[in-house]
Amino acid sequence: KFITFEGIDGAGKSTHLAYVKARVAEHLAASGREVVVSREPGGTPLGEQLREILLNQKMHLETEALLMFAVRKEHLVQVIEPALARGDWVISDRFSDASFAYQGGGRHLSLDKLNALEQWVHPHLQPDLTLLFDVPLEVARARLDATRELDKFEQEKADFFADTRKEYLRRAAEFPQRFRIIDSSQSIAAIQAQIDQILTTLFTQ
Ligand code: C5P
Repeated sequence: KFITFEGIDGAGKSTHLAYVKARVAEHLAASGREVVVSREPGGTPLGEQLREILLNQKMHLETEALLMFAVRKEHLVQVIEPALARGDWVISDRFSDASFAYQGGGRHLSLDKLNALEQWVHPHLQPDLTLLFDVPLEVARARLDATRELDKFEQEKADFFADTRKEYLRRAAEFPQRFRIIDSSQSIAAIQAQIDQILTTLFTQ
């Protein structure tokens, strides 16, 4: 199965990735299947090189969207599709919903163009489960400021994150079957309890 993690910067998704990985690994242990953890932009040597460029260089919005999907194609071909074909599970820290949320919602690239890219790059594959870590903007900002330096994207104005978050929530409403929204302002224990419930359902499907 294919699980994706999504949310605006500072929503806390990285904190919970290790937990989900451990739960899935436990579930798969007896079957001999493995859990592959990966991320976007990134996930392959070429993808990681492009990540450096994407995160640090200014470029036209459409160039950025095209590169994000180029990274994704490589990630699919090299990592995601072979793993799923072996029967392994894949957890990706971000996937196409991030393109819709950031390049579409945040930066206002037309959703038609993003849909066309998605149709090109993965017409038939969608995550089985997308965990959307959602927090009010003030909480996200406070977390980021406290922990590390902001990168190029994070420095942009607050309404960018508001629009990004809005597009994530709109997609969650559009695809309720695979999206689960996690209120990431709760305690870690409460979030883990919610994750356990979601995974229990996934494990029986
Ligand atoms: O999830 P992570 O923090 O590794 O993402 C790296 C950066 O890339 C984030 O600051 C995010 O805002 C940005 N990003 C983006 N568009 C995407 C995916 C990530 O702007 N499609």
